[in-house]
Amino acid sequence: MNKVSLALVGWLAAAVVARGATGAQDGPAPTPSRCAALLQQADPTVQILTSSSVAEGPLPGAGNPGAAAASFPAHCVATGIIDRRVGVGGKEYGIRFEARLPERWNGRFLFQGGGGLNGVVRPATGSVKGPAALALGYAVISQDAGHEGGDASFGEDQQARIDMEYRSYERVTEVGKRLVLAYYGQPARRSYFMGCSEGGREALLVSQRLPLEYDGVVAGDPGFLLGVSLKTWIDRRELARISPPDTNGRPDLRASFSDADLKLIAARILRRCDAQDGLADGLIDNYPACRIDVAELACKPHQTQQCLSAAQTRVLGIMMNGMRDAHGKVLSVGYPYDTGIGEPGWRYKIGPLPVGLGGVGPLQGLFLTPYEPTLDDLEFDPQRDGVRMVETGSLYRADGVMYSSFRQHDGKLLLYTGSSDPTFSPLELIDYYQRLAAANGGLETARSFARLFLVPGMTHCSGGRSLDDFDPLTALAQWVEEGRPPERMIAQGSAFPGRTRPLCAYPQQARYRGQGSTEVAENFECRQPDEARTPQ
Ligand code: CA
Repeated sequence: MNKVSLALVGWLAAAVVARGATGAQDGPAPTPSRCAALLQQADPTVQILTSSSVAEGPLPGAGNPGAAAASFPAHCVATGIIDRRVGVGGKEYGIRFEARLPERWNGRFLFQGGGGLNGVVRPATGSVKGPAALALGYAVISQDAGHEGGDASFGEDQQARIDMEYRSYERVTEVGKRLVLAYYGQPARRSYFMGCSEGGREALLVSQRLPLEYDGVVAGDPGFLLGVSLKTWIDRRELARISPPDTNGRPDLRASFSDADLKLIAARILRRCDAQDGLADGLIDNYPACRIDVAELACKPHQTQQCLSAAQTRVLGIMMNGMRDAHGKVLSVGYPYDTGIGEPGWRYKIGPLPVGLGGVGPLQGLFLTPYEPTLDDLEFDPQRDGVRMVETGSLYRADGVMYSSFRQHDGKLLLYTGSSDPTFSPLELIDYYQRLAAANGGLETARSFARLFLVPGMTHCSGGRSLDDFDPLTALAQWVEEGRPPERMIAQGSAFPGRTRPLCAYPQQARYRGQGSTEVAENFECRQPDEARTPQ
């Protein structure tokens, strides 16, 4: 028997003792000493670094516990590191994690996905979308995906890339489930994964690569084509061409479109398309019907206000409609015409650059391309550099459509995205969902295990003129545990105080029934749209 197997026996033995001592989920709650005992779990590959009991109350910096709970419940928090090692350049690596195990447990396990380039362990409260899962009684684990620091320098270490791409999720799944077993004396009755952005990619990844480990997965605004989609690179190169130089002589992308320019575009889109869903309410539900000729926005002779330059309309056209090569092959997809382009969340796309993403721009370089610290994303050439990304970039993709084991296991997948997400185009996700459906018996059959929700107006994961507050995890748990598929999720949001609306499962859209308040979700139904725009 090897060391790992021996360690596993140790874990299981401790779990059996735990069960005998405390009973199970329905018995007495685990005691603080059970929490301290997690420290004693010996394993050559897993170190438990800290373990302590936390009294009921707020957790500063840990997010909102949710409307239903004023504070987080009493729980045990354990931190640790998996597969600690010295990597390339003498740098220390390892998969750091945090687990929070509530005393009053609802029997469910949640892996909370990460974000950005990972590299930090976020509080394991299950705060992704909707109420914090810890406040609902979930046992939650979070992790840093195998490297420390939110920059891209881990890209020089092959194993760190592998951990970020797929391996850490499998290791932390295994350790998280073992911690649950040790602490409660029984395994979780259901296991879930929820994340947005990079965490959404991780969610899709586990549904494809660990099809038997999770009963339900929420993937929000997933960066699932990170590394193979050239949209970000192409759009930024085009933006650079119309940007004045900054003080260092580099194109200042922020100046390519002013806030007033973006608001002008958003206002045109809203005016043209708001009522196409039957109700002028500031939300564009029927985005497939919304078409704008960007040339309409160009300045007329002698016009200098409330219009765009010809160069700006050219780049806007590339961003919104995508780009094809000389043979008609799609190089980059477009975006749905939606209101978010005028909102602060859309600025992510054209600067100012977010802090900590490697210093060369959003989503860039070092972890998608071969490791080149001098890489300048603004000189990216899709023909030349796209090829160079094949090995390293494709490690990150999570766009598989083979779901036979996930389906047999009765797994459920709930996807959502903001219709105004500037980071990963919603059209890429819609296209993926259609491919998934085609590979799994068609849309009607695929709806039995995978559903997609578009959130009108929402930028990346939240924000925008949108109703971005909803509870996908509870909807998913009802689907998994009660067999009630989510036909609609009720959403609200600070952009429209007092309003509730249904979010509808694609391809359906919310439609006003024609009677009663337009601020109340009950007066809306989910309907098939009149027409659909084929993703490019
Ligand atoms: Ca509308």
